[in-house]
Amino acid sequence: VLDAEFFLRWMNALARAVDREAARLTELDAAIGDADHGTNMRRGFTAVAAALEKDAPDTPGAVLTLAGRRLISTVGGASGPLYGTLLRRAGKALGDEAGVSRAQLAEALRAGIAAVARLGGAKAGDKTMLDALEPAAAALDESFAAARAAAEDGAAATVPMLARKGRASYLGERSVGHRDPGAASSALLVGALEEAAR
Ligand code: ADP
Ligand code: MG
Ligand code: MG
Repeated sequence: VLDAEFFLRWMNALARAVDREAARLTELDAAIGDADHGTNMRRGFTAVAAALEKDAPDTPGAVLTLAGRRLISTVGGASGPLYGTLLRRAGKALGDEAGVSRAQLAEALRAGIAAVARLGGAKAGDKTMLDALEPAAAALDESFAAARAAAEDGAAATVPMLARKGRASYLGERSVGHRDPGAASSALLVGALEEAAR
């Protein structure tokens, strides 16, 4: 079973990964956005790690719900409300159980992803975070390692896509040939999940 400790490890591993990769995420956003994705993610997950350190919620659902709320309140860019919604909705789906299975987590993430799609109006193939998250949540039914690989493949698959949502969509054809920054950060989110499971 995956307990609150596991979810705290996940969020802390993600905060470290985002900190380490902030410059790369911002560089990706410089190509097809406004060069702030690394800054946004770092601000958000630094606040998440601080809130979790202070509060240390004792259920998986409460860890994700608190993380989502902090992202929404600290990140101004599109990614804040979107990742905040993902984690809050997934946390809500996990309820107040003290431990959950990998299958329950996969199902909760799918609920979160559906909420992100509703909020942002994007679907698979639009060159957004969903292109990494959707295949990862599907592969999580198999294993953490499969989810990580699927997220990385999904992020790489955004390179030839034409952006249809978010700032990158303003570029039209010029968005082709660049990796979507949000898909890259989603690969970090799933990579941190696999790290927490090791
Ligand atoms: P902003 O675009 O406001 O500067 P960020 O740079 O932090 O915000 O985040 C940009 C990322 O957010 C994009 O690379 C994309 O993955 C994601 N994104 C933007 N709009 C949407 C949307 N409508 N649906 C899903 N993801 C989106
Ligand atoms: Mg940006
Ligand atoms: Mg911005």
